[in-house]
Amino acid sequence: MYALFHDYQNIMKQLSINIHYTEYASTDELNEADRLLLLKAEEAVQSAYAPYSGFMVGAAVLLDNNSIVTGNNQENAAYPSGLCAERVALYAASAHYPDMPFKAIAITAKAKTFTIASPVSPCGACRQVMAEYENRAKTPLKIILRGETGSVIVFENVSQLLPFVFTSEQLNP
Ligand SMILES: [Zn+2]
Repeated sequence: MYALFHDYQNIMKQLSINIHYTEYASTDELNEADRLLLLKAEEAVQSAYAPYSGFMVGAAVLLDNNSIVTGNNQENAAYPSGLCAERVALYAASAHYPDMPFKAIAITAKAKTFTIASPVSPCGACRQVMAEYENRAKTPLKIILRGETGSVIVFENVSQLLPFVFTSEQLNP
C-alpha cells in the first residue's frame, strides 16, 4: 500500500508558468508606432456603442503593411448579440486584408461614471481570437493595454496572455 502511494508521488508534478510583459509609466515611454496605435484606439473609443454598460472600449490593429484598422464595442439590447471592441477590430481587419499578418493591437477604454486608471485587459474570447490570427500569420501579435490614465502594459505575443491556448494544430496534429 505504501509503495503504491509512493509511486503516485513520483508521477505527479507541480509546475508553473511565468508570463512576461513590460510596464511603461506613461505613453511618453512608448515607441512612436505603439504610441500612435494607442492614440488610434483612444479615438475609436469615442464612437463605441455602449449604452447599457457605459464602458466604452476602443481597439486598433496594426497590419504588416502598416495599415491600421480600428473597432469599438457594439452592445445590443439582447446582450449576447453585442461584440467586444477587440473582435470588431480584428474581424474587420481580417475582412478587409484577408492575408495580411497583424503586428500589434492596442486596447483602451473609457467609462461613463468613473476614471479607468489601470490597463484594461481583453476577455478570454478576444484572447482566443487574437491567438487564431497570431497562429495563422506565424508572427507575434503584440498587445498594448492602457486605461484612460496611468501606465501602459505591453505583451510581446498572445501566448503570454493565453497559456495552453487551443489552436488548429490540435484539430490536425
Ligand atoms: Zn472581449
